[in-house]
Amino acid sequence: MTVEELRNRHVALLRDRRVVDHLDPPRDHTARRAGGGSGGGSGGGDPTGGGRYHTWTRVASEPLPGRLARLAEVRLRPAPYRQAHLLDRQRTLDALQPEVLHLAHAAGTPLTTPVLAGVFPTGTLDALSVPVPGHGVLVLVDTSALDLLDAVLTIMTATSPAYGTPPLLTEDQATYALAEAVNAHLYGNGAVRARPLPEPTGQRLALAALMARRATQFVLAHEVAHVLAGHLVHARRVTDPDTPVGPLDALSVGWPREHDADRLAADLLFHTLDDFGPRGLDVHEPCLVAAVLLVLFLHEVTDRLADELGLAVPFAGNHPPAVRRVQSLVEHLSGRVRTPRALDLAADVATWLEDRLGGVRHWFRQVADLIG
Ligand SMILES: [Zn+2]
Repeated sequence: MTVEELRNRHVALLRDRRVVDHLDPPRDHTARRAGGGSGGGSGGGDPTGGGRYHTWTRVASEPLPGRLARLAEVRLRPAPYRQAHLLDRQRTLDALQPEVLHLAHAAGTPLTTPVLAGVFPTGTLDALSVPVPGHGVLVLVDTSALDLLDAVLTIMTATSPAYGTPPLLTEDQATYALAEAVNAHLYGNGAVRARPLPEPTGQRLALAALMARRATQFVLAHEVAHVLAGHLVHARRVTDPDTPVGPLDALSVGWPREHDADRLAADLLFHTLDDFGPRGLDVHEPCLVAAVLLVLFLHEVTDRLADELGLAVPFAGNHPPAVRRVQSLVEHLSGRVRTPRALDLAADVATWLEDRLGGVRHWFRQVADLIG
């Protein structure tokens, strides 16, 4: 019953911080959907800033003032949290969590402490471990981190010719979509997500879904690694006043242990490759490496943008700078990978992101000019 107790604590925390009252599925699904669609206007109750893109050609196709207004809206009018959004993200975590616990078991290091990953607007791409004495550890995973990962992977696979030709988005469309995703993360308090893109198909869908799953598993596995390695016993409690929901406590274990947790988490995930033959490894190993490093690339990019924009990143000092984490993990992985091109996809992903940052900054500057 301890995991149930952790689940209760998670919901109590969401309620205390006035995020949502509960995470129960709506009883009358159809009525709820109809109500959600008609209420709240463009920004009000809808975390997507109004609707979704139904076709790829519609992405970023509104006139410039409309596109700028949508970015500005997130900054000017904080959107309320929506239960359906949080429930959707919680379901993602509920689906992935058993896989990570299974990996720990398969690696010969079964977890004896109950752990539950719960979605929460923490404002940091790192999950936060909150010990619940007598019951286990509640791992709080940022709502918008999951949204950002999904959006970036969809945009990337839709744009880069490596995943299919012709690309589904032009460079300009991709840059705006990326600006929307990062804007929602930096300014949306975990309540706002970028307007959803159409669902990709075929190879693109398979790759985006696989990498999103792996990346989220890495976030969870990093926290599981802290528990497995006994790091939390030595932790120091720190409070950050600047999270989306006010002051929040987290455990700080020190930078060397953070690097350890990154390495241990990657090792856990690498066990999923054990059953592949050489051809399977050729596909899956680069994917895994890229997904794991994508989390840290996004960390680096959003930290840098937040710094440029004068925004606080909650619990920023708890982990080593993302660049150092990438370096340390790449060194570790280099000695572990089994295929010659295992790191290439990750390098492509990093370059793809870096190449679009200038365009994202350009959108942010225009918004700043607009709202003064
Ligand atoms: Zn950590």
